Amino acid sequence: MPTCHHCHTICENGTAATLTWVHEREPDGQVRWLCPDCTRRHLRDIEARLPAGRQ
Ligand SMILES: [Zn+2]
Repeated sequence: MPTCHHCHTICENGTAATLTWVHEREPDGQVRWLCPDCTRRHLRDIEARLPAGRQ
């Protein structure tokens, strides 16, 4: 059962809910899940870290 890596919410509603979750595979083979809320926060973090003028 996927568990959010950040807030530890458990995705227990089956595959339909899992579609809105994001998973990232780490170099060591572990899979990290992010719930939709944390995904949005995570994306903002990534965008904030992008160098200005890129993209
Ligand atoms: Zn979360």
